[in-house]
Amino acid sequence: MTESTVKTSDVAVVSCPKYTPESARAALSEALSAVDGLSCIKPGMKVVIKANLVSGKNPDTATTTHPVLISELVKMLLEKGACVTVGDSPGGLYNAARLAAIYSATGMKMCEEAGAQLNRNFAQSDGKTKNGLVLHDFKYTSYLDDADLIIDFAKLKTHGMMVMSCAVKNMFGVIPGVTKPEYHSRFPEIERFSDMLIDLYENFAPCLSIIDAVYGMEGNGPTAGTPRYVGAVIASKNGHYADMAAAEIMGIDRRKLPLFCRANERGLCPNSLDELTVYGDLEKFRVKDYDLICDASSDFSLVVPKPLAWLSDKLLRPRPKLTPKKCVGCKICYDTCPKHAIEMVNGKPHFDYDKCIRCFCCQEFCPKGALHVHRSVAAKIINGK
Ligand code: SF4
Ligand code: SF4
Repeated sequence: MTESTVKTSDVAVVSCPKYTPESARAALSEALSAVDGLSCIKPGMKVVIKANLVSGKNPDTATTTHPVLISELVKMLLEKGACVTVGDSPGGLYNAARLAAIYSATGMKMCEEAGAQLNRNFAQSDGKTKNGLVLHDFKYTSYLDDADLIIDFAKLKTHGMMVMSCAVKNMFGVIPGVTKPEYHSRFPEIERFSDMLIDLYENFAPCLSIIDAVYGMEGNGPTAGTPRYVGAVIASKNGHYADMAAAEIMGIDRRKLPLFCRANERGLCPNSLDELTVYGDLEKFRVKDYDLICDASSDFSLVVPKPLAWLSDKLLRPRPKLTPKKCVGCKICYDTCPKHAIEMVNGKPHFDYDKCIRCFCCQEFCPKGALHVHRSVAAKIINGK
């Protein structure tokens, strides 16, 4: 690759056929060279890799960023003289015992063996955004204060509320776990929630966004879906650009992505990938039948005329639904719901859909995959399914 190629790529989509150190290193080297992603790393810098460690599940489930990829990135950063910490704050408790269990289940020991520290500072700080559109005050995980640079290392996944969870959404993990549902209460409308996520992303301004798309998650994501082979790694200095490439691969119409629509309106990304320089053959990785959790955002006002909003709310909005035989009555959904829209009846959750804001925290945090995003027949027809 020539130096001129290095400087001109906005986003890279490269082949990574499997989770081996050799494949991971080759893919990361190619992608990060293409977007000039490591030139900002200087000896002695403290770099935080903000991984997606949303749940204590085995890497084979495609729920979290794969440890082989993170480990190879750690080695590359160490070779440049950086000190590296890997961290995340999943939903729920943010403490030593919980994170120890998650690090163990998600294979993060490998990153420690590669020379990184796993974050064990569970303090929280109060922050203020400099130029936030909707988010001004927030709490965040204090270990980020030690970082000279942050690298956002996301996973390609479907998501109940946001349709997909990739680079920009991954930065919601800077919010301490137990306080996350509060943000759904503060920003119940999907456009404002999207603006809040963008404010967070822009505030922490990762120097690089990478998406593990070797195996993505399809179906009941972001924690209870099924792995889907893609065989790629996506990288960009701009998380919005990385997400645009991810949406193309998953076959998602970007106009139905609330995060993209808001970022686009705010001038943070162009209308189309055609306006960006893309390194690599994205077409090769496009999955035509990626099983999406829903085809539009949970707010159907994006596709339904305003006069029909009431009807659409009743008939078309997706809603959380229980598969009773999978439910063990743990009450995590009940405890997580920011709007108290769940009542436990005979050990099973019952939903008050008038109170429900369709944040799908209950579905995301159910440890048994007993909740899914249900769409009515009418909604499926409107979305051409
Ligand atoms: S979190 Fe899941 S398993 Fe636990 S009570 Fe709710 S639906 Fe049942
Ligand atoms: S019931 Fe589920 S989707 Fe509805 S507000 Fe509560 S957590 Fe969110």
